[in-house]
Amino acid sequence: MSHAATPRPDIDNVRTLIAALGTAGRTTQGGITRMTYSPEYRRGMELTTTAMREAGMEVSIDAIGNLVGTYAGKDPALPAVMSASHLDTVPEGGELDGALGVAVAIECVRTWHQAGWHPRRTVKVVATVEEEGNLFGLGCFGSRAMAGELEGRSPEEFKDAQGRTLSWHLRQMGLSPDKALQAAKIDPRDIACYVELHIEQGEELDLSGTPCAVVTDIAGIDRHWVEITGNANHAGTTRMDRRQDALVAAAAVVSEVNQRAGASNGQYVATVGKLDVSPNATNIIPGCVRLVIETRSPKPEVLEAIHTDIPRMLNDIGARFGVRTELTRRLYAKPAPLHASMIAALQAAAEQAGVRATLLPSWAGHDAKIMTTIVPTGMIFVPSLKGISHSPLEATRWEDIDEGLKLLDQALRNLAA
Ligand SMILES: [Zn+2]
Repeated sequence: MSHAATPRPDIDNVRTLIAALGTAGRTTQGGITRMTYSPEYRRGMELTTTAMREAGMEVSIDAIGNLVGTYAGKDPALPAVMSASHLDTVPEGGELDGALGVAVAIECVRTWHQAGWHPRRTVKVVATVEEEGNLFGLGCFGSRAMAGELEGRSPEEFKDAQGRTLSWHLRQMGLSPDKALQAAKIDPRDIACYVELHIEQGEELDLSGTPCAVVTDIAGIDRHWVEITGNANHAGTTRMDRRQDALVAAAAVVSEVNQRAGASNGQYVATVGKLDVSPNATNIIPGCVRLVIETRSPKPEVLEAIHTDIPRMLNDIGARFGVRTELTRRLYAKPAPLHASMIAALQAAAEQAGVRATLLPSWAGHDAKIMTTIVPTGMIFVPSLKGISHSPLEATRWEDIDEGLKLLDQALRNLAA
């Protein structure tokens, strides 16, 4: 299929929109802090709305603040193609995480609009709220609402650090909190598929010098809360051979977890990022340590094997240091494979568009992970220089973004044709 008559999207327009969005929440330290529903966020929504309108889209805001641009297809009764990413940032984040996926999708549609071209299916570009989870501690909030995951919840349940509820925030936005979480749910039958372009946030593409990746799986996250109980005692009078030091045992856990993941050949990553030491005093032997072991892998069988292994490891370490170890809680979000049909569609689009694209798993979570639960979902990565993200230093070469733009454009045209 050839679309030679249609002009191709212009990377300069993407740069302009990204630069404009960069003014919404820019801090004195050079990062961007655009918390969902904040004045900076609303400024970002305004800029995005203007860009969507200029691209020929009708713009609406759903019940929880997801911004939806609709470009009507020739056959509006058909399920639409959705391309989205998030508009919020982490504190002191970069300008590409999230915003880039929105900006490139808008530019694709703008090109079609300028050429007077309409695909068969309607195309919806969505800028989602609260993917980073900074406000209520729940990531991918906007997509979870769209997917219907929050249907049974009340906007009063979600509170920010200041104790302000989702209802309060929605009212600030001029939205009604009444049944908002039910109303934000989309009917999966209305959506044919979902595509998200995002920066990789890892270093694989930059290291291999590849401009794009088609994402195969989004890693699962498995968290184990562990409590190690020893004996808090005098740090001077307790002989070394009489101690039950919970922190020394915890140190063995940290080191064991790290060594095993390091020896896994890249199958998984594991982190102990949080320890609470009690009583946490200079002159007392630590009596209790609570810690969390987090493992991530795109492969469910890998995560299951580690899950089975953790109690054994804890027992060994407990016996070695004379302490009691207990697993108190597990929180498991299974890996999400992206749909084979979408991976194939994106690979075909890359070949058609002459874009070099490899296959990669995603080690970070994304709105796309939630969307896999309701519609065929695909994802495109562009490189993150040195793998830096969630930082003002986050960057991607514009030549590489241009390749991603070409790939997304071709893919959206094919999927909407
Ligand atoms: Zn992101």
